Amino acid sequence: MKLVFATNNPNKLIEVKALLPQYDILSLQDIGCFSAIPETEDTIKGNAILKAEYVLKNYSYNCFADDTGLEVGVLNGAPGVYSARYAGPNCNAEDNMQKLLKALKGNANRQAQFKTVVALTTRTKTLCFEGICKGSISTHKLGSSGFGYDPIFIPMGSDKSFAEMSLEEKSAISHRGKAVQQLIIFLQTHRKL
Ligand code: IMP
Repeated sequence: MKLVFATNNPNKLIEVKALLPQYDILSLQDIGCFSAIPETEDTIKGNAILKAEYVLKNYSYNCFADDTGLEVGVLNGAPGVYSARYAGPNCNAEDNMQKLLKALKGNANRQAQFKTVVALTTRTKTLCFEGICKGSISTHKLGSSGFGYDPIFIPMGSDKSFAEMSLEEKSAISHRGKAVQQLIIFLQTHRKL
């Protein structure tokens, strides 16, 4: 089955393709979509739906999209839906991590969670699958694998950051891995979309 995964993030694509080996996953590039899909909703779920529905509407492919946020308890859930632009409109992952480490400096409570919503859109329906990974923010960067906030996120029960894990180790416990597992169960029980 052909399915578009609406992302321009090569790291997300690698993670998701590894989780769905039985499906023909097409990237936005594969379908000739080079525009930045607007993420204008104020919830993670809203942005995931927006991206998936944009592809169905403009390219007529069944599509799923993911949107992810890092929610920090003592920051009242920030950066949350604004995780990508936490340090400003043109910031990169390093800027975001440094801003977060600074915001938590000297703070003993470093509890946080990643939340991913995967939205699947077909001509007849849109469905959402949520995955949460609880953990904490380290005091400094650890490891160099992965992407985004991975070097400063330590999942609960682990002594390693996501950036110190293999792709398989991360996906077995991650927010995205959990959301995609639910998507897999749905696809296996609904072979005709
Ligand atoms: P988005 O879902 O691409 O909008 O991601 C929001 C922000 O969270 C971006 O800064 C990403 O780099 C970051 N992010 C998304 N998924 C992950 C992940 O699995 N690990 C670390 N950071 C992530």
